[in-house]
Amino acid sequence: MAVDLRRRALLLAGVGLCGRAALANPDSRAQAFYTGRDIFTLGVAAGDPSDDGFVIWTRLLPAALDDPPLPDASVEVEWEVAEDEKFVRVRRRGIAWAEPQWAHSVHVEVRGLTPDRWYWYRFRAAGVQSPMGRSRTFTAAPAAPDELRLALASCQHFEYGYYAAYREMAHDAPDLIVHLGDYIYEGNTPADRPALRRHCNPPPTTLAGYRERYACYKRDLQLQAAHAAAPWVAIWDDHEFMNDYAGDAPPPGMPGESYLRRRAAAYQAYWEHMPLRLSSRPDQSGVRLHRELRVGTLARLLMLDTRQYRALQPCIDPKKPGGRWTDCPERAAVERTMLGGDQERWLEDRLRAGGCKWNLLGQSVMMAGLVGQGPAGPVRWTDGWDGYPQARDQLLRTLAATQASNPVVFSGDIHAWFANDLRADPGTPVVAAELVTTSISSIGQAYDAIVAQLPHNPQVRYFESRKRGYTRCRVSGSALQADLVAVDDVRDPDSACRVIRRIEIEAGRPGIAAA
Ligand code: FE
Ligand code: CA
Repeated sequence: MAVDLRRRALLLAGVGLCGRAALANPDSRAQAFYTGRDIFTLGVAAGDPSDDGFVIWTRLLPAALDDPPLPDASVEVEWEVAEDEKFVRVRRRGIAWAEPQWAHSVHVEVRGLTPDRWYWYRFRAAGVQSPMGRSRTFTAAPAAPDELRLALASCQHFEYGYYAAYREMAHDAPDLIVHLGDYIYEGNTPADRPALRRHCNPPPTTLAGYRERYACYKRDLQLQAAHAAAPWVAIWDDHEFMNDYAGDAPPPGMPGESYLRRRAAAYQAYWEHMPLRLSSRPDQSGVRLHRELRVGTLARLLMLDTRQYRALQPCIDPKKPGGRWTDCPERAAVERTMLGGDQERWLEDRLRAGGCKWNLLGQSVMMAGLVGQGPAGPVRWTDGWDGYPQARDQLLRTLAATQASNPVVFSGDIHAWFANDLRADPGTPVVAAELVTTSISSIGQAYDAIVAQLPHNPQVRYFESRKRGYTRCRVSGSALQADLVAVDDVRDPDSACRVIRRIEIEAGRPGIAAA
């Protein structure tokens, strides 16, 4: 079965990369408002699979500035979901409206499908056929699949590298791609500094600017191939809005009103460009991004939002707010929330629900502590959970108190692989394992400085920051194996990828079993 799926993914990646023109088929009914060449320039995507459906996504956007613009009106989009890639056995079809107030994006929540199988989907609008994508439903409880194949991704700075990792991921054809944040970067490399390729617009501050930034990323065909090959589940980190931001607190010098207006624009653009459910669409209360995916009784995946509700980082330097390598009494002394009370209660409730072999937590920033050596003594990175140690310890005590079965935390953000043991308090037993995945393309952390600190950080069982790539996980009833897939040369879009390490976690034995 695995071989068959890989073959199909290869075919699919081929469609994503070069098959589009052949699929276009102008339809005279649509000529009234649109006669452009292609309006599916950002590809297609599926997300948030359940045991009977998933979201399918696209956004209508003409190919080039000299193409006719879309009307400032809703556009009818036909969609269909089939059991085969030739769309002979269509299981669901319907009409959706691409509305201009949501950037002509389409989010269809497809339901009523058969559990535990793959499907193909596509759209048609203005006489143009979209490329097709592939998605799946999960096993329905109380059944459990033999295994779940995941790919973990984070941090894909467009200017620093190509997406060979996504080409490889599309070829893997995993059951689910888990994106842990920094899907876009809002900042630009200064023009006088080298970059492999350039963002296509100035640093965004408005809705139009953030939309254009997403379009810039999503035009990458290797990223499109990864979206077309498998369903995704995504949460954000900071760069989807602003470096190291914290909740609704503006950085010093920025009026609260303009900070919140800009945050709302960034949040809206995120929803518009991700295969998210309607329940995650922004409204006055914000964006509900924390959510649960269930894979029969094998696993639950709890996606956590570590940005929207967090308190300010501690030990702030007013001239340079955000995360720093520092320490001060405030860091550990003051209760500072990371998830916010509502999300914490939701998480505890989901952990108490039990019924799954694995409890997987997907979130952006590293949870394990990491002590470094500064000129004036020990320092911690305050933008990660080390800036919120009381909230972290409380979460880890909750994992222990709820006896959550086989907890594993997935993290991104720091452009390095870490495999960590997590303990609530020093001297207490390990309660969970943490896998931090490296960046797809963003520049890595200083390797030597962290290696020098590893003797003081026995909780870190593996560390590697010199390579870009992703993490390929196989979750079965007995173990979670994580293969670290490294890109040979991120400057080469055709670069080969290779597994540089296997990390093993055993069911019934908290923490990292082998690294
Ligand atoms: Fe990043
Ligand atoms: Ca980040």
